Amino acid sequence: MERTYVMLKPDALKRKLAGKIITRIEEKGYIIADAKMMQLDEAILREHYAHLADKPFFPSIVEYMVSGPVLAMIVEGENAVLGMRKIIGATKFEDAEAGTIRGDYAFNTQENLIHASDSIENAEIEIKRFFHK
Ligand code: ADP
Repeated sequence: MERTYVMLKPDALKRKLAGKIITRIEEKGYIIADAKMMQLDEAILREHYAHLADKPFFPSIVEYMVSGPVLAMIVEGENAVLGMRKIIGATKFEDAEAGTIRGDYAFNTQENLIHASDSIENAEIEIKRFFHK
């Protein structure tokens, strides 16, 4: 059993897509082991997106991510880290295939609805960051 950190971003909630997205996660066979609404601030985003801090679009990501609440989740299941990355789709808009969450619902690279950890190691770091467990 593996666990990963998943987060529905502000646009997913504003567009009322949370139910549809959670259904896809559950239909894949995964369990929502924990969930909470959070209002993020710049400090936690500077940690979470530290690898992007020197990008020109970083201020825009922060503005987007604090624009409303997110739904933070711990998702559990067999191969949950890789499996969630597959169902969310690629980061770049032009690479996100139809049939993935981003490919079906996002219309640009930034506002792409959902986060999922990209490695087992980062999943544990992110679960500690957002759930302290
Ligand atoms: P992922 O979210 O797929 O793990 P990254 O960690 O590279 O990808 O990027 C974090 C988030 O920053 C993306 O999900 C997206 O919201 C935003 N982002 C990444 N690259 C760009 C870009 N070139 N332009 C605008 N926003 C971006």
